Amino acid sequence: MKIRVLGAYGAEGLGQRPTAFLVNERILVDAGTVGGALTCAEQRLIQHALISHAHLDHVVGLAFLTETIAFAGEAREPLTIAGVEPVLDALRGGVFNNVGWPDFAQIPSEAPVMKYRTLVEDVEQRLGDLWVTPVAVNHSVPTSGFIVHDGSTGFVFSGDTGPTEAIWKAARGLRGLRAIILECAYPNRLAALADVAYHMTPERIAAELPKLPPGVPVWIYHIKPQFYDEIAEELSRIDPARVSIVEQDKTYSL
Ligand SMILES: [Zn+2]
Ligand SMILES: [Zn+2]
Repeated sequence: MKIRVLGAYGAEGLGQRPTAFLVNERILVDAGTVGGALTCAEQRLIQHALISHAHLDHVVGLAFLTETIAFAGEAREPLTIAGVEPVLDALRGGVFNNVGWPDFAQIPSEAPVMKYRTLVEDVEQRLGDLWVTPVAVNHSVPTSGFIVHDGSTGFVFSGDTGPTEAIWKAARGLRGLRAIILECAYPNRLAALADVAYHMTPERIAAELPKLPPGVPVWIYHIKPQFYDEIAEELSRIDPARVSIVEQDKTYSL
């Protein structure tokens, strides 16, 4: 399994793109950036977008990806936007609503650019060549983390979350688990903000580690660019052999 980091951050900065991972060139896990990291031809290979929640730093890339599919190249199968029902409802009502952006699930009428696929929480489902289990995590809006595997190797993607339980429990015992992709948004001094916004700080990640499936590397994403140096320094004190920050534009092989 190959995971290409299109966007490693929890917002946009100079050279820093919001959260998006591309698995095996065909499946997005979140879509905070797409066109800013891929050629048109690469964008057009994408078949599915697995979406954790509807915050803009996880979905704004869908707006421009749908245009690429609509305008560039030959007609193709619609892009599947996959997520749990409250997340898809938020995309329908808050993004692709013909106000914020055209409703590409209806456009063009003869062959719409995208379609929605509702995933069921806590159930393993097939998505392209992967198996995906959405598990509710602890954020300010309905949000899923995902357990993803291809039958031999896999990873856990936390989604945006504060301290949580169920997804770690669900991931325990998964064979071939090679990475835990875990969010961190704020430095330790902003713990009160992390409380109200439902995010992690380095101290919280240190406290979360004993709950995680043991021995699996932890890759940190979603650092807010405004605090990058401070957070990186705090993270480096946890367990450098296990906890590292994901590198944007790198392709990881599991
Ligand atoms: Zn976010
Ligand atoms: Zn969020």
